[in-house]
Amino acid sequence: MTKPDNQGPATRIIHNRRHEDAFGSPYSPVYNTTTYRFENTAALLDVIEKRTEGNLYTRWGTNPSINELEQGLAGLEQAEAALAFASGMAAISATLLTHGRNGIVCVGDLYGGTQELLKNHCMALGIDVQFLFREELAQLESRLDVPGKLVYFETPANPNLAILDIRAIADIAHRCGALVAVDNTFASPINQNPINLGADLVLHSATKYLGGHSDLTAGALMTTAELAKPVAAWRKNLGQLLSPETAALLSRSLRTLPVRTRQHNENAMAVAEAMEQHPKITKVFYPGLPSFDGHELAKQQMTGFGGMLSIEVEGGQQAAAAVADKLRVFLLATSLGGVESLVSQPSATSHHSLSREERLKRGIGDGMLRLSVGLEDAQDLIADLHQALK
Ligand SMILES: *Cc1c(COP(=O)(O)O)cnc(C)c1O
Repeated sequence: MTKPDNQGPATRIIHNRRHEDAFGSPYSPVYNTTTYRFENTAALLDVIEKRTEGNLYTRWGTNPSINELEQGLAGLEQAEAALAFASGMAAISATLLTHGRNGIVCVGDLYGGTQELLKNHCMALGIDVQFLFREELAQLESRLDVPGKLVYFETPANPNLAILDIRAIADIAHRCGALVAVDNTFASPINQNPINLGADLVLHSATKYLGGHSDLTAGALMTTAELAKPVAAWRKNLGQLLSPETAALLSRSLRTLPVRTRQHNENAMAVAEAMEQHPKITKVFYPGLPSFDGHELAKQQMTGFGGMLSIEVEGGQQAAAAVADKLRVFLLATSLGGVESLVSQPSATSHHSLSREERLKRGIGDGMLRLSVGLEDAQDLIADLHQALK
């Protein structure tokens, strides 16, 4: 079904369908099937030998529920193609193993799981992996010494919300014959579309904002049909597909992604502004605040500033832990992007394995708390923080 290109993302995702339903249901049924029946051997061979398109076996990536989800995911990032995965790490690992084999150069701070994958697994496979601090961006060109490398980064980054210039990095990478992959999980496709800024591959942990209710694990890659094709082969043979049931649940979540994202943005801004006024908060990390380091860049490349922010509590690690323990509306839990607000202390969770010195170098102070601002009433979130900071 062809859709006018000029429709907005909310219209497109709500009306995302690959087939008309025989019974007039506005949404597709869930195709909980692993296999597909053929009329005869000739028809089966037509599909096997690729003369006609057809479903054969769900793990191969051919399932109507999963393919409909992928059509919606591609549209959200204005990409030609999308692949759905069983987790964000499945999407990231298949992408790195496909397009990172000539070497990977990482810029800035990365999600802990991605760092483990790069350091413990990619390097063990003999892949040349290099890490640059955000401040070392000037070295990028010299690290892309052979063509066909992959530049990999996150913006906004975890947990300091640091902003990297997607267009500037893509320009350098492309000049050196490298591809660019951006983990866009923190922003969500409603607030930032890296492909429009020059990125080649966009990754999401759909477990976060895309799923949005902390009830499913999934991942996604959005890219060109050409770059997706070899990744799909890894996905097939590593067995990284999500179930049709999860795909349908994720498709349902995507219909409210635009409206959820707007409210996440609004609530996070209100919480950030309130925390900036608080005498016991020494710093607020939120791209929407004019006082924030990356604010001007964020304004250029994002259309909203997201639901993630970090605060630095006066008094260090124990003072921050005491605040986290006293919060009642914010739940003390890792992860992010759900309708419920969460708090976590990076020095005790995601960045626990780093030395204090390394944490400070990354702007992660002892008293830092990371907030995933949910969809509760903003005044209740602010009141909760005020009572916990007393
Ligand atoms: C959670 C997360 C991942 C990993 O996603 P899973 O769905 O847990 O596998 C990757 N990148 C970022 C930025 C994340 O927040």
